[in-house]
Amino acid sequence: MTKIRYDFRSDTVTRPSEGMRRAMAEAEVGDDVFGDDPTVSRLEAVVAERLGKAAAVYVPSGTQSNLAALMSHCGRGEAFIAGQDAHCYRYEAGGAAVLGSLQPQPIAHAADGTLPIAQVAAAITGGGDAHLAPTRLIALENTCGGQVLPVAYMNEVAALARRHGLGLHLDGARAFNAAVKLGIDIAELAASFDTVSICLSKGLGAPVGSVLTGSAELIARARRLRKMLGGGMRQAGILAAAGLYALDHNIDRLAEDHARARRLAEGLARYPSLAVRMPDTNIVFVDSDADIGEPLGQHLAANGIGITGRYGQHRWVTHLDIDDAAVDAALEVVARFFDARQGH
Ligand SMILES: *Cc1c(COP(=O)(O)O)cnc(C)c1O
Repeated sequence: MTKIRYDFRSDTVTRPSEGMRRAMAEAEVGDDVFGDDPTVSRLEAVVAERLGKAAAVYVPSGTQSNLAALMSHCGRGEAFIAGQDAHCYRYEAGGAAVLGSLQPQPIAHAADGTLPIAQVAAAITGGGDAHLAPTRLIALENTCGGQVLPVAYMNEVAALARRHGLGLHLDGARAFNAAVKLGIDIAELAASFDTVSICLSKGLGAPVGSVLTGSAELIARARRLRKMLGGGMRQAGILAAAGLYALDHNIDRLAEDHARARRLAEGLARYPSLAVRMPDTNIVFVDSDADIGEPLGQHLAANGIGITGRYGQHRWVTHLDIDDAAVDAALEVVARFFDARQGH
């Protein structure tokens, strides 16, 4: 295997910067399961305040954050509605069903990443019919596959949830990307949700960690579930310090990732055999026939360009460790691929 020189596989691949490492080394710590870690407590307070929520809990991963949220809203045998491609339905190893005994009700996404309101409404069950698992929650994701859901849409889903007495959760792993793209405060993005999960370990560049925010009551339940799920950590302030550093330094710069993703997408779109979805934020999806996509993927790998995907479906992600030179290098490698094919 050729070593990856430019890693576009995910925004999770970033390594903590010098400044972040210094903040981690200097963090004041205590036993967070006893509530004694001042750095974790500060991170929770800062995130709750920024998102306009009453409380927050620091968890090891976005997966655990979503699971604790789903289980805080729903009891055994109850249902939640989520997107067919939502992380909390599709990419969390079935945890909600396995560990929460919850019934997921997936809805197909529209091309813009939204869940059509009429279909969400039609999927809500309840009213005492003994055949049905009662719906307790709707879960949205923003960004979703890198696409931004508009505030007006989120408000419409929130109104539907209220009418039916349902909870509303946001998987906001990349909510800061959405807020930066929309040019709004993260609190405005979070406003219509009962719980919001954010990831510190994606575009924000921390090595570990997510934060779940919401009402004091829901977060108290989530804190107990975190312990149950094995996420109670001890001197976790070492990690939380990285999160605090990320919140101070790495949010506004997400706009640079978005601009680089756009430049990358425009460069790839010059080749007619690549169908490029123009990115809202930092994720570029590229479709092609397998007889192009497969050899292109191999060519990229052989030239030290890391992407994800197989056959004709590729995903490129920009992040803290992808600079302009990395985008130039990647486009250069792609150009060599198409030049060589033309030569045959
Ligand atoms: C990455 C991601 C998660 C899960 O985060 P992990 O820390 O990898 O468990 C959840 N939701 C979305 C949308 C994500 O992209």
